[in-house]
Amino acid sequence: MSLIVQKYGGSSVADAESIKRVAKRIVETRKAGNEVVVAVSAMGDTTDELLDLAHEVAPIPAPREMDMLLSAGERISMALLAMAIESLGHDARSFTGSQAGMITDARHGAARIVDVTPVRLREALDEGAIVIVAGFQGFNRDTKDITTLGRGGSDTTAVALAAALNADVCEIYTDVDGIFSADPRIVPNAHKLDRISSEEMLELAANGAKVLYIRAVEYARRHGVTLHVRSSFNNNEGTIVYNETENEGAMEEPMIAGVATDLSEAKITVVGVPDIPGKAAQIFTIVAKTGANIDMIVQNVSAASTGLTDISFTLPKSEGQLVLTSLRAEQEETGFKALQYDDQIGKLALVGAGMRTNAGVSAKLFTALFEAGINIEMISTSEIRISVVTRADTINDALRVVHTAFGLDGDTEAVVHAGTGR
Ligand code: ADP
Ligand code: ASP
Ligand code: MG
Repeated sequence: MSLIVQKYGGSSVADAESIKRVAKRIVETRKAGNEVVVAVSAMGDTTDELLDLAHEVAPIPAPREMDMLLSAGERISMALLAMAIESLGHDARSFTGSQAGMITDARHGAARIVDVTPVRLREALDEGAIVIVAGFQGFNRDTKDITTLGRGGSDTTAVALAAALNADVCEIYTDVDGIFSADPRIVPNAHKLDRISSEEMLELAANGAKVLYIRAVEYARRHGVTLHVRSSFNNNEGTIVYNETENEGAMEEPMIAGVATDLSEAKITVVGVPDIPGKAAQIFTIVAKTGANIDMIVQNVSAASTGLTDISFTLPKSEGQLVLTSLRAEQEETGFKALQYDDQIGKLALVGAGMRTNAGVSAKLFTALFEAGINIEMISTSEIRISVVTRADTINDALRVVHTAFGLDGDTEAVVHAGTGR
């Protein structure tokens, strides 16, 4: 008997009809002789709606209460899904994150899983039940409080359950047919990938491809879980995310796996920094204390006449104001002249393991953007990725021209089955 973990995203359980459809699918998997554990997201845009509500009653909602609120979304969908399965004549039992043994650290809104003790799940499975677990939530042993894992965190719940229960597969069901060469909502002729390495998927996820949550990919890599991303709306094959160590030399992979874009970042420029040793250290120590996640960093050559330089970096918009305030508070000690804040930037990342052995990728990328009249404001690279920052309002055009320039366009139009793209 195989143990299969399935995760259904919000758009797959958006209403009663969808929940019944998913329930049927789960029952089919059970009838085929498998043990089934399901991680489920909140219905549709519930999490966003709860977030909006919270901000209507409080300008800065208390993090503990925010997690109490948001975890309610998954509690609703798990119970409804269990009921729908029961009504098809199968035993199903739902569990909250804490009942399922998802133990996390205490960081509200961004908790990390530190242990998984799925004792009750194992018992329910042994009794022949289908297990439904609320995604995205956990429990901290010290504070005894409910935590959430960060937006998109139900993916991590599924992977962590698959690892802890030693599942044979972890299937991620969503509203598109798998992982595409670009977001099919923006590039309709993006092509579906049959497989992608977890290394490449990590880069895509880190750069805005929300089809998989970055921490879920990391967790799967660390624990050797193979992910299978597919649509809950049809039986198409989907995409396998494999760990490259297990597939070494098995297949020649295409040079470029995909392109991702991200509009969630802002750019801070520290203007007129004295060009002497220790200044970058000072500035980024201040930034680090805020806990902000820095992405790209660019330092210009200093003007000889002034001995001053500018340092720019990107970070999530949500952390922008906090970092600005912290830097301003230490302006005198640091000696910089001014701060500039720009939240109208977009980031594009071209990802492919084949870049390691292919020359000319940057030239081709920059040429494609130049020919489309798109200005590049920042550049950064890793071994398998090139990222550029452009104006936010040119990012979708940038994505389409780069996608075409690298020969990634497919022959058919990708189907987006549901979801609002929110
Ligand atoms: P779920 O609710 O199932 O978790 P998400 O909305 O989090 O679904 O993720 C699925 C969405 O990710 C798709 O509808 C698509 O718009 C978006 N997406 C972004 N980049 C990609 C990509 N490279 N391949 C497939 N989908 C992508
Ligand atoms: N419901 C949560 C969110 O919208 C978690 C998830 O769906 O993965 O972010
Ligand atoms: Mg998701």
